[in-house]
Amino acid sequence: MIGVTENLRNIRDLLAFSAAEAERTPDAVKLLAVSKKQPIEKIFAAIDAGQQDFGENFVQEGLAKIDQTRDKDVVWHFIGHLQNNKTRVVAENFDWVHTIDRLKTARRLSQQRPESLGPLNICLQINVDDEDGKSGVVIDALPELAAACVDLPNLVLRGLMCLPAVRTEFSEQRKPFSKLRELAQNLRAGGIDTDTLSMGMTADYRAAIIEGATIVRIGTALFGQRD
Ligand SMILES: *Cc1c(COP(=O)(O)O)cnc(C)c1O
Repeated sequence: MIGVTENLRNIRDLLAFSAAEAERTPDAVKLLAVSKKQPIEKIFAAIDAGQQDFGENFVQEGLAKIDQTRDKDVVWHFIGHLQNNKTRVVAENFDWVHTIDRLKTARRLSQQRPESLGPLNICLQINVDDEDGKSGVVIDALPELAAACVDLPNLVLRGLMCLPAVRTEFSEQRKPFSKLRELAQNLRAGGIDTDTLSMGMTADYRAAIIEGATIVRIGTALFGQRD
């Protein structure tokens, strides 16, 4: 798995470079390794090379990988669409959920989170481009959803997440990320303080880091094309 080890080193360098460009320190940006549809061997290789945070989109696949890494120090992030009938296993096995867009899902996760594990970290997914049929809370509904989530005992609202429409121009890529940062600032002004902006993937992480991403979610550049 020399590929994964090398890719990881390159990505860490690129993230540090982008952070410096944005006058941010390298440790201000966490790399979330998106391992969906990638074999467990590549995950082991990344863990051996010091990677700690992994993201999965599909519940069953994620659970299988969590089971195979129980003896290792891994932080698991759920970043896929979460159906209500899957909240219990997610609450019992993951450390973060990035894709909350309804209060009902957040309530179930809070009720189902085992207290022994401590609170579950959550981000609210924002439909930042207001796209029809796309997951994510609409911008106008964010303040109310955020306020309700803060009151749930077994969750910690860490921040906001987005998955914008594809753009190729750098200046265009920055716009939805800038918007997400502004939404977090608005929440802060309203008394809801968060520390996480989960934004940017292989194709647009640089724009996201310039706009303040604290977690970039990178799959392809690290593990190669998915099966
Ligand atoms: C697949 C996925 C990623 C990673 O995408 P790459 O382009 O492979 O880096 C990031 N975030 C989410 C929500 C994803 O589903």
